Amino acid sequence: MAERFSFYNSLTRNIDEFVPRIPGKVSMYTCGPTVYHYAHIGNIRTYIMQDVLVKALGFAGYDVKRVMNITDVGHLSSDADTGEDKMLAGAKREHKSVMEIARFYTDAFFKDFAAVGNKKPDVIEPATNCIPEFIHMIEVLLDKGFAYQAGGNIYFDTSKLDDYYVFSSAIEKEQLEIGVRDDVEEDTNKKNKTDFVLWFTKSKFEDQALKWDSPWGVGYPGWHIECSCISMKHLGEYIDIHCGGVDNMFPHHTNEIAQSESYLGHKWCSYWFHSNHLNDRAGKMSKSKGAVLTVSVLQEKGYDPLVYRFFCLQSHYRKPLEFSFDALDQAATVFDKLVKRVAELKNDGEVDETVKKDLEGKFLDAISNDLNTSMAITVLYDALKADTSDATKLALVESFDRVLSLALIDHAKKLKEGSSDVDPELLKYIEEQIAKRTEAKKNKDFATADAIRDELMQKGIEIKDTREGVKWQIV
Ligand code: AMP
Ligand code: ZN
Repeated sequence: MAERFSFYNSLTRNIDEFVPRIPGKVSMYTCGPTVYHYAHIGNIRTYIMQDVLVKALGFAGYDVKRVMNITDVGHLSSDADTGEDKMLAGAKREHKSVMEIARFYTDAFFKDFAAVGNKKPDVIEPATNCIPEFIHMIEVLLDKGFAYQAGGNIYFDTSKLDDYYVFSSAIEKEQLEIGVRDDVEEDTNKKNKTDFVLWFTKSKFEDQALKWDSPWGVGYPGWHIECSCISMKHLGEYIDIHCGGVDNMFPHHTNEIAQSESYLGHKWCSYWFHSNHLNDRAGKMSKSKGAVLTVSVLQEKGYDPLVYRFFCLQSHYRKPLEFSFDALDQAATVFDKLVKRVAELKNDGEVDETVKKDLEGKFLDAISNDLNTSMAITVLYDALKADTSDATKLALVESFDRVLSLALIDHAKKLKEGSSDVDPELLKYIEEQIAKRTEAKKNKDFATADAIRDELMQKGIEIKDTREGVKWQIV
């Protein structure tokens, strides 16, 4: 039996108790990356929080099937069908074909995706695999009168809907109407400003690399259609949870709902899970802003990707999170201490099932309360502090790590292996010398600090100052 689970649903603007259509089973859809560039650590924050949701649901006893698309066609630089084609811009930038760009950045994405401990979705489908499905849905929308042809393109007619801005309050709706009127670049083919392209045949992208035959001429799909079709292809007519970043709510998810529910003739998805952005000091992180800070770049700088995951888990997914290297360094220090505490546990004694169950209950309370990851980490500390056997504590670390995915036991093992060959006396000496050197540096006594380093070097111990603190090795 699956346990009670609640999270914020953008559709009702409430923390709702989760009730899937089929008891115990969850169908989940995730908007995947647009593969014209590297995914930055902001994108990866979104995928980390979705991974935690999947695993938290698993912890609560649900069986989750998750589908993700890969956007390799149709996404323009503005989400509202204007600007440059992102894939084409990527291909031009790197003098490669669109498919080469797509392949390269899809691989790079999944490398970083896995490095931060995320489980791969059960189905991953590139948009370019599903053109016949897109054409079919557009034909049905035309037949039902929800779409029209103008200037060669096919548009969705938003005036046919009773409620288009499904995620917004009445006041927000008014603001959106004004915003859309003022912001959107004129497309004289559109009957209404909020109408969106389902299929392009004629547009300013005469050099569009990928084109397909369609009943309306050679062309290519708009961006939004892919998520509706790919989700229905693998999950059927209903989905329980749809995920994305907050920027996806409008227009992307709003348009997905418009076309899916018009096509199906019934409600499509009950729960919408949106996570907030990672910002740097200059504002929202964005792929189009130039130099892209990726998980791989963090690794090159000496950070463990799971420290980045830990940094993300320390804050709530619905709050914006500001990234800085100082903040990441702090997370690294806390993470190292946590690993050290786990490494100190001895695998002896019996597992106390009552204590284990009680703390697992508290952990579940935290994650099933709108995915309160920082509270879940607090429960982990409570477990480490508990008046119980080390075996119970280790069992709890293992259990919680099914959701947190910080590889705590592995890290602890490596830490022990790294220090087990060293004589305990020598280890104590090294740690004391490092502490003295840190103190000297703090007091700006660099001569003493250097002398300590040289003395250690003479004994064959090299120390290095890294962003994650002082590291040493025997040379
Ligand atoms: P994209 O590849 O641009 O389609 O974005 C992939 C995912 O990352 C989407 O779900 C976006 O909502 C999300 N995203 C974009 N920018 C950020 C950011 N700065 N912080 C967190 N998530 C983001
Ligand atoms: Zn999508």
